[in-house]
Amino acid sequence: MRRKIVAGNWKMNGSKDLVQQLVGVICDRAVGLDDAAEVVVIPPAPYVPLVQQQSDGKLALGVQNVSEWQSGAYTGEVSADMAKDLGCSFVLVGHSERRQLFGESDDVVARKVERVLESGLTAVLCVGETLEQRDAGEAEQVVAEQVRRGLAGVAGDQWEGIVVAYEPVWAIGTGKTATAEDAQAMHAEIRSVLKTMDAPAEEISVLYGGSVKADNAAALFSEPDIDGGLIGGASLKADEFISICRSF
Ligand code: PGA
Repeated sequence: MRRKIVAGNWKMNGSKDLVQQLVGVICDRAVGLDDAAEVVVIPPAPYVPLVQQQSDGKLALGVQNVSEWQSGAYTGEVSADMAKDLGCSFVLVGHSERRQLFGESDDVVARKVERVLESGLTAVLCVGETLEQRDAGEAEQVVAEQVRRGLAGVAGDQWEGIVVAYEPVWAIGTGKTATAEDAQAMHAEIRSVLKTMDAPAEEISVLYGGSVKADNAAALFSEPDIDGGLIGGASLKADEFISICRSF
């Protein structure tokens, strides 16, 4: 059975106060959720220890990005080994904001995936097309290429450390969500690409992200190939985030 996962990507938002307000409430309301879904909080890296302390180890944690390198003279970088050392189990790789604003290519993304796996963490490879690409009928091709190139170095048992998140760029932070049918179609396509890579495609969780809210999560999560969500804006509101987590 594939893991059901709901991950809250806080992006570059938060403060010590916010951690204090949000994390206790999420933990209280997440009680008993374990059987339905794994709840993951992905704050900005400096807040990881505080989230961990506030959640008393009850939430799975992640970071939003790591370096292509594990240590050394790379000022400003944070490595996958460090994320592991802090108690994280997930790392987002290739989020569209990293690709668009920080110029991350598929090759960079692939190297980061390799570092994450080397550290024994789960890499959440983010893929998704822009509106122009969708309008031009290129969405499937773009996403397939991102999956193939981002996961080019993965083999054998390493697939156990892979989760894919389909996040159409036009749906991120815009209030526009892919319909459950369109998202399902892309998730099925991603799974078929994974099969061509000799990956255990039926065991790899594929999450949907892009304006997931309490009122659209259930429709998305009821699709057979949608195994949960990567949640941005709504993950900063405890009630909404927990409602999403309870939408399976
Ligand atoms: P959103 O962001 O839920 O605010 O659209 C999702 C993401 O970027 O991971």
